[in-house]
Amino acid sequence: MSSKDVYKRSVYREPAPVLDQDNPFQAMVERFDVAARILELDPGFYEYLVTPAKIHIVGIPVVMDTGKIKMFEGYRVIHSEILGPSKGGIRYAPDVNVEEVKALAAWMTWKCAVVDVPFGGAKGGIVCNPREMSPGELERLTRRYTANMMDVFGPERDIPAPDMNTNEQIMAWILDTYSMHARRTETAVVTGKPILLGGSAGRREATGRGVMTVTLAAMERLGLRASESTVAVQGFGNVGSVAADLLAKQGCRILAVSDVSGGYYNANGLDIQAMIAYSASHGNSLEGYPDAEPISNDELLSLDVDVLAPCAKEDQVTLKNADKIHAKIISEGANGPTTPKADAVLADRGVLVIPDILANAGGVTVSYFEWVQDRQGYFWTEDRVNRRLDRMMHAAFDSVFETAQKHDTTLRIGAYVRGISKVAGALKIRGIYA
Ligand code: GLU
Repeated sequence: MSSKDVYKRSVYREPAPVLDQDNPFQAMVERFDVAARILELDPGFYEYLVTPAKIHIVGIPVVMDTGKIKMFEGYRVIHSEILGPSKGGIRYAPDVNVEEVKALAAWMTWKCAVVDVPFGGAKGGIVCNPREMSPGELERLTRRYTANMMDVFGPERDIPAPDMNTNEQIMAWILDTYSMHARRTETAVVTGKPILLGGSAGRREATGRGVMTVTLAAMERLGLRASESTVAVQGFGNVGSVAADLLAKQGCRILAVSDVSGGYYNANGLDIQAMIAYSASHGNSLEGYPDAEPISNDELLSLDVDVLAPCAKEDQVTLKNADKIHAKIISEGANGPTTPKADAVLADRGVLVIPDILANAGGVTVSYFEWVQDRQGYFWTEDRVNRRLDRMMHAAFDSVFETAQKHDTTLRIGAYVRGISKVAGALKIRGIYA
């Protein structure tokens, strides 16, 4: 089957309108369709696996610093609990919505299955602009959301983690609020928390480290040497900055990075350590960083580099720019940065895309290690965490690569095939409770 055939609509659904920036859940379903057809998935299983198990929507009242009450909306979508308790981050953003959280929850299901982590998939979100809120307002918002989710969260049920605009401090407030209600300290209810409260060594860097591992594995397959390779990284948060730093340490030249303040380019290679220090001392912004030229987002994405790592947000590589991408490898640190239509263009042009559900799975892998350590009350060294993470990411990369080759398809569809077949296999054995 050629890569073009793979992108024909499947028999499972009526063709959706051919949009580029589909709603993200639709973008997930489009890939699911292709994988389901390859797997000849039973139509009943298809419906089961594509449908979220539970969608929770809560109103969150917060007393703002002005003394006035403001209502916020919060979500937690449990996509699947077939392989184990559901797992996934919580994002705070002004434009987060149920469709996006549904897609992100489903991606967590396939991601956990791809890396062989025994969790189902979930995701949460709160519609808010954390940049305009005080620490006190954020704390009250987080605590009330957690209280509203008391029957949803739990170490054996559903385990949140950080995602866009959430961090260790927010996880600590979730842990504390949950523990106050449970009348015991329950460290395993959340991952990505401070090490002092049962967090894991290496968790903060884990997503970026995983991006580095699979990028090097892909470079090896293409015969590229790190010391001769160039990289552009979109996004300089927890994922992008660590991926850039670790790839630079492997000898890659990082020609460009970007954050909310803009893009930064240096033909000789950027000093990533200096940029991390600069950003940390300038309110998490690279604004005004001296040793680089400004570059636009479009220019960064179409740079003539070996590796492009989109580590910011959804829908960055689209039909508008897919034919301008020069990179040989796209390593998706973000969730959903490439649209399905752009996938088809990239596949035709021979760009090797390491899909999000593989490339950024290092985060949830070390979240799993954190949960295991909390439950055992025994903590590993950072070296042990990193070695186990590297082993699991390598194994996942190899098995996705082989699956893609076997079905003559892209790594993305290979990853979906692997993830879906694992969850479908578990569903078959569990059966349908009536
Ligand atoms: N938010 C991260 C992701 O999208 C991590 C989720 C987790 O560790 O549970 O994979």
